[in-house]
Amino acid sequence: MIKRRKTVLVVNDDGIFSPGIKALGLAVAQVADVLVVAPDVEQSGVGHGITFRRPLRFKHTAAAGFGDIPAYRVDGTPADCVVMGVNLLNRPDMVVSGINLGANMGDDLTHSGTVAAAIEGVSLGLPAIAFSQMSNEGEYDFTAGAAYAAKLVARVLEEGLPPRTLLNVNIPPHVVGARVTRLSDHRYEDTLVTRQDPEGRDYHWVSGKPKAEYAHDSDFGAVEDGLISVTPVRLELTAHDLLDTVSRYLPEVESSVLL
Ligand code: MN
Repeated sequence: MIKRRKTVLVVNDDGIFSPGIKALGLAVAQVADVLVVAPDVEQSGVGHGITFRRPLRFKHTAAAGFGDIPAYRVDGTPADCVVMGVNLLNRPDMVVSGINLGANMGDDLTHSGTVAAAIEGVSLGLPAIAFSQMSNEGEYDFTAGAAYAAKLVARVLEEGLPPRTLLNVNIPPHVVGARVTRLSDHRYEDTLVTRQDPEGRDYHWVSGKPKAEYAHDSDFGAVEDGLISVTPVRLELTAHDLLDTVSRYLPEVESSVLL
């Protein structure tokens, strides 16, 4: 029996000219047909934003170094790229996002455009994986992460993922293995850095002080040990254990506003 080669949509949030998406696209092309759709400029930190107040352009981009792999850039967000990739091209079998320059662990998932692209894929009913690479003093080596990505994508194409779930993968600078993890309680205490422009007017940078948790079973703990961290993430955000507690103190609605 001839097995049809599957199609994988490759997206990112660092933009189509990032070395991370090139490494991922070329690696995944060893195990599937690849289509690349990515933002034309960096969109890190935009989360799951979508563009619906202006039109979007979709342009073939030969210059991004993907060779024979069809690559398109979009003047929108990572989630826009997934919507366009899934609708304008043949519906892919899977969405993969990255490889992001920098980790996406713990609370980072709520800001990450890389993870949001995977979430958009899941929302459209496709299995999805987000890949992020930690640097070695500012230098990124995608060799180990890209090779692992090709193998993991091949596995998920075979095994599938349950509905409403994705895998969030973080790759340390020096890889000695892999571990399944939970999201750490890794967060930032957001701060504001205020400076003055040459005219003496204040301007502000949103910044953050990281508060990391290094527990052994967490994503942060795994990459500290040199392990590729693979976290299954579910889009179900309901706090089921609080349904009773909240229902106990829910205020009554004034009868005058009831129909
Ligand atoms: Mn990024």
